Amino acid sequence: MTKKPLGVTTKILIGLILGIITGIILYMLPASGFKSDVIINGAFLLVGQVFLRAIMMMVVPLVFISLVNGSAGMGDVKKLGRIGIRTVLFYLVTTAVAISIALSLASIVDPGVGLDLSNIVTKEPTINEGVPLVEVLIDMIPRNPIAAMSDGSMLQIIVFAVFMGVGLSAMGEKAKPIVNTFELLNDLMMKMVGYVMLLAPYGVFALIARTFATEGFDVMVPLAKYMLTVIAALIIHAIVTYGGMLKGFTGLSPIKFLKNFVPAISVAFSTASSGATLPVTMEIAEERLGVSKNIGSFTLPLGATINMDGTAIMQGVATIFIAQVYGVDLSFSAILTVILTATLASIGTAGVPGVGLIMLSMVLQSVGLPVEGIALIMGIDRILDMSRTAINITGDAVCTLIIAKAEGEFDQEVFDADNRETTVA
Ligand code: ASP
Repeated sequence: MTKKPLGVTTKILIGLILGIITGIILYMLPASGFKSDVIINGAFLLVGQVFLRAIMMMVVPLVFISLVNGSAGMGDVKKLGRIGIRTVLFYLVTTAVAISIALSLASIVDPGVGLDLSNIVTKEPTINEGVPLVEVLIDMIPRNPIAAMSDGSMLQIIVFAVFMGVGLSAMGEKAKPIVNTFELLNDLMMKMVGYVMLLAPYGVFALIARTFATEGFDVMVPLAKYMLTVIAALIIHAIVTYGGMLKGFTGLSPIKFLKNFVPAISVAFSTASSGATLPVTMEIAEERLGVSKNIGSFTLPLGATINMDGTAIMQGVATIFIAQVYGVDLSFSAILTVILTATLASIGTAGVPGVGLIMLSMVLQSVGLPVEGIALIMGIDRILDMSRTAINITGDAVCTLIIAKAEGEFDQEVFDADNRETTVA
């Protein structure tokens, strides 16, 4: 009997687990030049960054091409508008639910009560001034689409690509050659993402091992209660909100969803970046979750930019934590303000590592808490960043599935298919 080769999903999971173990072992080994220069900042840095850059390289062309293609294929502007409104509503509501779970749990656990502050503060926090909503809206329209692409300004790219797609579909038959070309280019992008995914198990291993080898575990001990509250809220949100929504709105099995989606979760966890994970999320949505390209190419880049439930959860728990550490009682209206500002702050958070923590300053300022409180949790944020990024992209995929199903743009056979272990992600 011939042995079945390991599939990419299994390999990525093995990479993830081995990476954690290797990182922790390395962390415990005594410091040496070999350990830091050859392994951690040599081999691991090289392999991890090559993988990270290879997927990031795909983000802008993939989003642009697949979105032009998707919105041209959608056919009518009314449908596009309906999907847009539904998507944004879904994203907003799930984020508000996420933060409510976080606030409730943190109020029960009291992670900041009776904490000894000495020797936790590690770095000076960055203060972030909130950007007025009007400016956010104006800024969605690119002055120059090429500049938007070279800056990787996702919302601007989305606006231009959808606009182009609408124009193409309005041109009808005449535009066929261009639409066909974009369709081919889209296939090419998918092929390239597939190749990059061959690197994923090694990239995930190296990124995770390096993070765990350099994280300061000692500083985590006094903050264990805060960290565990964030992680518990993330898990509750995933199981109750996402599991419930999937079952309730689509009747699909959350377990099967998880099985199909796990490569994207692993990549999000190891890169701590929704933006960098986007090519993987999009490929999996289409090829494993059965979401049509028309829907996924629109809702997923939008989600990776504005939908950050995991980030909102961290911001909620962190706000209660900091209030407790500073001995401030938050009134009911302050709690409502936190729900509102954390929803907005998570929308404004870019899908790159660590930004959620910077945006937390907006939430703290809104209820008069000291922004310096961020310094308390900065040193241990990386592990939480990895975890919340995994939830951020899971939320995008769940909303996308629900919308695809409602719009009749979902392929049950693809979702149900087993035995994809031998194909690329
Ligand atoms: N790293 C997160 C993401 O990319 C954002 C954050 O919360 O810092 O989704």
